[in-house]
Amino acid sequence: KAKHSGRATYAFYTQELTLYAQQRVELAISLRQALLKEELRAHYQPIHDLDSGRLIGFESLVRWQHPERGLVPPGEFIPIAEENGLISDIDLWMLEQACLQMRAWLESGCRLKFVAVNISSRLFNRGILDLRVAEILARTGLPAQYLELEITESTVMREPEVALEQLQRLRELGIRLAIDDFGTGHSSLLRLKRMPVHKLKIDQGFVAGLPADSEDAAITRSVIMLAHSLGLTVLAEGIERPEQMDFLKRNRCDLGQGYLFGKPLPVEQLAQALEEIRETDTCSR
Ligand code: C2E
Ligand code: MG
Ligand code: MG
Ligand code: MG
Repeated sequence: KAKHSGRATYAFYTQELTLYAQQRVELAISLRQALLKEELRAHYQPIHDLDSGRLIGFESLVRWQHPERGLVPPGEFIPIAEENGLISDIDLWMLEQACLQMRAWLESGCRLKFVAVNISSRLFNRGILDLRVAEILARTGLPAQYLELEITESTVMREPEVALEQLQRLRELGIRLAIDDFGTGHSSLLRLKRMPVHKLKIDQGFVAGLPADSEDAAITRSVIMLAHSLGLTVLAEGIERPEQMDFLKRNRCDLGQGYLFGKPLPVEQLAQALEEIRETDTCSR
């Protein structure tokens, strides 16, 4: 009897797994077509200077406008794209979109400082990212200083020596570099010291508990001090409540990003955010 129910359970799981695997295969195939059919969308989330409150840049975040499923968030398709390598094509497409968009914003008189683009470990570790970035900058005509690449701490620390070389080549192009999700990837301080980056982005997991959670508060304060002692800019992600922002301002965090300032939106819906910086004279026209 036990054997029988065991087999039944086994059969049940096999069916479940097959269905799951089947769905992943289908998703992988339709994702490949999504790139060709231009179903991917770049959304942009505002980044503010905490001291002045001003909008100073945007982070681009990919979405999939699926014909049946609607807007699919990256958490649902990036893991699959990472498995089959499609993520590199997605990242390069996003990179080009962001450069074109930033150029358009600058040409319309917006004095934004940068647009940030996420880079997967797959693309980063191929060793040709600097060549691709140089091509895209040349093709889109965006001056290098306006582009920032976000590489996660775990990507950078996977093979630190290789990462160091790639980061140096990227830096030579004149672009900016940020370490994303900082605090989740086991950096050694010695290695961090040698990384030629401009910015640390404190993971939203530490910002969530501010200001009440004493551990989150202690970690956040330490990362801000660490960044500043290394001469880096520091940004806090996932700011949703005014108390979190007050804590971060009190502790001299430079930049902030989160729903309190604005959610990621398609360009058509950013007019209002951009209008605000026109009023404060960050846009010249
Ligand atoms: P990330 O780069 O750390 O991006 C921040 C994520 O936090 C975004 O999720 C953003 O929508 C979300 N977020 C921003 N403010 C808040 C807030 O106040 N509260 C909460 N709860 N969440 C907030 P999203 O857009 O779903 O992206 C998730 C992750 O997917 C990104 O994390 C990034 O690792 C990856 N990703 C997104 N776009 C791309 C891309 O074009 N290429 C690659 N390689 N990865 C991407
Ligand atoms: Mg990011
Ligand atoms: Mg992050
Ligand atoms: Mg993240």
